[in-house]
Amino acid sequence: MQGAETAFSEGDALFGAERSPIGILNRVYGYPAFRGKQQQVVEHVVSGGDAVVLFPTGAGKSVCFQIPALCRDGLGIVVSPLIALMRDQVEAMKQLGVRAAALNSSLSREEFIDVRRAISSGKLDLLYVTPERILMDGFRETIGNSKIALFAIDEAHCVSQWGHDFRPEYRELGKLAEHYPGVPRIALTATADPHTRDDIVERLGLHDAKVFTTSFDRPNISYEIVERDQPRQQLLRFLSGHKGNSGIVYCLSRAKVEDTAAWLNTQGIRALPYHAGMDRALRDANQDAFLKEEDLCLVATVAFGMGIDKPNVRYVAHLDLPGSVEAYYQETGRAGRDGLPSEVWMAYGMADVIQRGRMIDEGNASDEIKRVERSKLNALLAICETASCRRQAILAHFGEISAGNCKGCDTCLKPVETWNGTDTAIKALAAIYRTGERFGTGHLVDVLLGNVNEKTERFGHATMPIFGAGKDVPSRTWQSVFRQLLAMGLVRVDHSAFGALKLEAEARAVFKREREVFFRKDRPASERRSKKTAQAERRSVLSGADGVLFEALRAERTSIAKSLGVPPYVVFPDTTLIAFATERPRTHKELLGIPGVGQSKLERYGDAFLDVILTHDD
Ligand code: ADP
Ligand code: ZN
Repeated sequence: MQGAETAFSEGDALFGAERSPIGILNRVYGYPAFRGKQQQVVEHVVSGGDAVVLFPTGAGKSVCFQIPALCRDGLGIVVSPLIALMRDQVEAMKQLGVRAAALNSSLSREEFIDVRRAISSGKLDLLYVTPERILMDGFRETIGNSKIALFAIDEAHCVSQWGHDFRPEYRELGKLAEHYPGVPRIALTATADPHTRDDIVERLGLHDAKVFTTSFDRPNISYEIVERDQPRQQLLRFLSGHKGNSGIVYCLSRAKVEDTAAWLNTQGIRALPYHAGMDRALRDANQDAFLKEEDLCLVATVAFGMGIDKPNVRYVAHLDLPGSVEAYYQETGRAGRDGLPSEVWMAYGMADVIQRGRMIDEGNASDEIKRVERSKLNALLAICETASCRRQAILAHFGEISAGNCKGCDTCLKPVETWNGTDTAIKALAAIYRTGERFGTGHLVDVLLGNVNEKTERFGHATMPIFGAGKDVPSRTWQSVFRQLLAMGLVRVDHSAFGALKLEAEARAVFKREREVFFRKDRPASERRSKKTAQAERRSVLSGADGVLFEALRAERTSIAKSLGVPPYVVFPDTTLIAFATERPRTHKELLGIPGVGQSKLERYGDAFLDVILTHDD
């Protein structure tokens, strides 16, 4: 950690007398223009308005509060939920020459005094604090008479009980309006469902705030969902396209996290586990390694991810079905924050649906919440089983209309055939009905295929007309048929009866042939194995001499980052290195023309990277 004097001595000189938003964006961040609605948000908050910002990950929310904090008089206070990540955020600001600090329980007494002194002498632009800290009595004292430019409430969805990131302290943040009247507040999140949004407005008292939203599409992310048959082999095949990349593999249970991470290491993939049951120090160390290293696979439960700013997460894999489309979108959304092509992949099967359903039923939520949870799970299942564009289905779930045919999901890249399966559906539904709605998929498939075993004998199913009536359809297809019937809402799983399938009222119309049923045709196993998405092939962004230079620039960045003890992206993001490699700037002026090179970084690292570029230019 740098001493207070060096850390807090820059500032005014850098921003210049005139603190205009665009001037700051150019000089401090090195970006030529605002993106999307950034400018509107910035102008609104600079002029003292409250704002709720709902942009997807990677849209550039940080600028929306950082620039107003720098434009307005006084200290910008940023509420952020995780101490472990504040350090990197503060470091990233310092690299830009912004006078930033964090106030949390990890500070030593001396560091705390330094920060306090910087605040009282007006030598701080941005202060990151936890929600607990900002609500403590002592906080007002710490701030003293200092002017406050704004409050930014990051990861604002933490106020909502609907998401899995609920933090009770966030609810208390509504008090900021009473305690600090007249100070603008800006709440930001990448979670946009209407429920969460209403909670944010309600709980934080932001009724008069202007709400800014953009499309939630993440065009640089490609989606793939496969039927699980040999999950480990399937995962390996997916990861084989990601050598040298960083990514996350999500599993449902802690034990599976441990096992999968250990197994990946035996397969030559460097992997570390992360879950809430681990020793805290080890967990933090693994998170730190993931942030700082470039080719690590982090195998984690959903305990991992919130507030992870690492921009070059190139893939996210799910070995288990998430609980909702919202959770799926948030978890996959951690890929590709830098805008470069990234892939997300999921393997799922009927067992997931049963397990998730049981988790809901066995939880201690109210019946009302359980009902919502079940319908959320069904919505995700429908996306898994769709034969149309997945991106379109996901966006539609969030109320956004899109054209479909996105060219960035498995169903668009390789259109899925459908088949009229009305007869097959009737057989499947009949198997459920005739056996008394008491059995799960495994047994129903046995009955349809006419497999004689202890269970079919014991229940006398072998003598029924339905027994063996589905011999013409392979077992895998029957599995898929039951999943799709579930996704269509024609059957449901009864968790109180050990996962037995029951008929829904809508099934009647199928029996009576009033409704036709179309199924997606699953791909043959061999074809699925050799398949490569177009995104995957595009992944190695640079080739030839540019690729060589890019690797050299990456090595330089790693060595600088190591010496500073910060993640590499804090020095420069990949997008900046790619521009260095392709545009080959040769002077300071040309360097400043590259997005991501501002005044402060030019002074710190310009020469080091110029050296690398010039040695490769000969
Ligand atoms: P979010 O918080 O919305 O997920 P970030 O604030 O982390 O997104 O920004 C994502 C990436 O986009 C970062 O690398 C950031 O530096 C970059 N970025 C943000 N705004 C701009 C801009 N106007 N021009 C170019 N790059 C930008
Ligand atoms: Zn698509």
